[in-house]
Parts: sequence; C-alpha cells; structure tokens
Amino acid sequence: MGERVIPLVDHRTVGLAVPAASAPAPTSGLTDARGRPLRDLRISVTDRCNFRCSYCMPKEVFNSEYTWLPHSALLSFEEITRLATRFVGLGVHKLRLTGGEPLLRKGLETLIAQLAALRTPDGQPLDITLTTNGSLLARKAQALQAAGLNRVTVSLDGLDDATFRAMNDVDFPVADVLAGIEAARAAGLGPIKVNMVVKRGTNDDQILPMARHFRGTGVVLRFIEYMDVGATNGWRMDEVLPSADVVKLLQSEFALVPLQASELGETAERWGYAGADGRHNPALGEVGFISSVTQAFCGDCNRARLSMDGKLFLCLFAGQGYDLRALMRGGVDDAQLDAAIAAIWQGRSDRYSELRASLPADVQQAVRRVEMSYIGG
Ligand code: SAM
Ligand code: SF4
Ligand code: SF4
Repeated sequence: MGERVIPLVDHRTVGLAVPAASAPAPTSGLTDARGRPLRDLRISVTDRCNFRCSYCMPKEVFNSEYTWLPHSALLSFEEITRLATRFVGLGVHKLRLTGGEPLLRKGLETLIAQLAALRTPDGQPLDITLTTNGSLLARKAQALQAAGLNRVTVSLDGLDDATFRAMNDVDFPVADVLAGIEAARAAGLGPIKVNMVVKRGTNDDQILPMARHFRGTGVVLRFIEYMDVGATNGWRMDEVLPSADVVKLLQSEFALVPLQASELGETAERWGYAGADGRHNPALGEVGFISSVTQAFCGDCNRARLSMDGKLFLCLFAGQGYDLRALMRGGVDDAQLDAAIAAIWQGRSDRYSELRASLPADVQQAVRRVEMSYIGG
C-alpha cells in the first residue's frame, strides 16, 4: 500500500489573498454565487493527531520528517472566537470543532466556553459539536460538556479489534473508543453520532457488526464513503463501497425505511429501523449515509471550513483557502472582517462532488486538494 502514497504538496503555506470588499456585509440573507446560505462553520483547531488512519494521515507522509505547524501559526482561542462571532453574525448557527484530533489542543474547554457564550442575531444559542477519534474522550467528556459542548461525533471504523488497530495504524484498541462513547453518553453529549469510513476490502465486514452493536442504543451510526480528499491517501475508486450497497447489505438483516432530512444542508441520507408494523421505530434508532462520491450533495452545501492557521476554505476539495489570519493580524476592524467574509462567500461557486464524475481521471488526480486533517471533516 505504501507505493500508492503520493507525496504531499504543502498547501498550507500560501493562502489566497482576501478579495477587497466593495460593500459592507449584508445584515441578513447572505448567500453564495449558487444561492446557498452560510450556516455551518467547521473549525479545525490542530494539525496533529495521535492516529494515522491510512485514508487520512498515512504514516509514510505524516512521520517524524513531517513539518507540523508551529504554535505561533495557530489561531489563538481569542482569534477563533472573534472569527466565530463574525460568522455567527453572518448566519452561522452551527459550529463543529475538528482537526487533526481536536482533543489534542490544550485547554480546548476554554475555547468551547467562549464559543458557547455566543448568540445568533436573534438571541439563540449555537449548536456546538465536536468530531473526535474518541481516544481521549473517556477522560474529557465531562469537562467538555461542562464547558458548553452540546454533542460529539466519534469516528470508529469497526468493532473487530485487529481491524480497528490496523486502520488507525497506531495499534489503538477499540475498547478505549467504546469507553469514550459511553463516557460521552453519560456526560449528556448526545445524541451521539458514530462515523464509520467504509473501505472496500478493509472494513466492509464490520458494517453489520457495527449496525447490530449500535441499533437501539440511541447512537446514530453513519456510513461514510471513502473520499478522494487530500493527495496522500492513494485513493482508488475500487476501494469505495457505494452507500447503495451498504443499504442493501443492511436490508439483508434489518427492515429500514427512508427518513426525511432533518435540516437543509444535512449531509447524511437517513434511514430508520422499522418495527413489526413496518414503520420507523424511534426506539431502534436510525442510520445515516454520507455518499459524497456516488451521490453528490453540493446543491445545498452551506458549510465553510476554517483551518487551524486561519484560512477559510469554501469546499472540502478546495486547494487553497483565504487567509483570514493575515487580515486579522494586520489589524482590520470587525466591519472590515465581516465585509471580507461576506465577499468571499458571495463569490463561492464550489461543487466538486457534483463535478467529479464528469472530470477525466487524470484531471481528478491533478486537482489540488488540501488534506482532510488540515480542514477537518
Ligand atoms: N480526528 C477526528 C476524527 O477522526 O474524528 C476529527 C478529524 S477527521 C479528519 C474528521 C472525519 O473525517 C473523520 O470522521 C474521518 O473518518 C473522516 N475522514 C478522514 N479522511 C477521510 C476520507 N478519505 N474519506 C472519508 N472520510 C474521511
Ligand atoms: Fe486522525 Fe481523524 Fe485523520 Fe484518523 S481521521 S488520522 S483520527 S484526523
Ligand atoms: Fe460542499 Fe464541496 Fe462537499 Fe460539494 S464537494 S458538498 S461544495 S464541501
């Protein structure tokens, strides 16, 4: 597998210059060039991780030779909170902390408390969530909840210990992640979502055991198609198991009924476990499918991503981000920051997943993409 790993082009050093704003930010109704509002901000708080999942941070690249960002390059908690405040004023009502592994960022609870104090323009609290590999969750769940975190999403690619240890590639035991999920539940960080990246031939034998394990527990298991994010994971289409096949596999054992999307811009297609009457039985719960390879969902994509060093990315598959850190450290005031963010969003037309299928393979390969561990999921 090592021979398929492609050397990393460092997209972190050069940020896009922020376009000059010709008008103040609109006070409401900000949309991009395709009419999509800005609702969801994913904030990556660190580029480091204690796992080396081969589909995200392969060891061959993210090793002792790899240059991590220095602390001074990272946004401080005050800078993150300032930016989050601006985004919330422009329509964001959901914040997701991610990474790298966000729980490796020292004092994260302090940041969460600052973010939890923010309110939308009409006075509502925000939805604050975190995506984690779960390795430090058993230790931290209580403090995260106390700081104001609402929910967690835990990444877990299988229940079989050997499979899981091989996929995280640092020999981390599955029992510790399961303990983290339990601790999160006990701390009230639910409903918990569990994300399972499915790689054909690697962990597809874990689909049914995972479904059996989480059915009826209140945990929402979501199957994620292995994506061609970044440039280092040696992605191949033949390792993608389409969600439609996962649905069929689940239906061989469970009765499932399609559910409505819970909100606009929802990334997952939802299916509920049916009871004996053939209708969704909420006590049995639901599963989700994130099918960004086989079923594009760019049409209502309302997500922006902020890297740990303050670059704003408009798409998971973007090659470069807009350098908001340079702007902030250059001394702009809040109105200028708002106008700049609004101008960037208004110019957004990204829809890579929709275009992927029509791009020739060599063009797909050549698209400059930032690493998933840099801008989070
Ligand atoms: N370290 C945290 C974690 O693993 O949950 C947060 C960051 S991680 C980059 C965010 C999500 O991206 C995880 O759920 C992970 O499984 C997913 N991910 C990473 N690389 C992926 C890929 N190539 N295809 C699909 N999902 C991927
Ligand atoms: Fe780390 Fe998350 Fe990437 Fe795995 S998916 S290497 S846990 S950042
Ligand atoms: Fe959004 Fe880009 Fe993903 Fe499309 S490909 S859903 S625009 S992040």
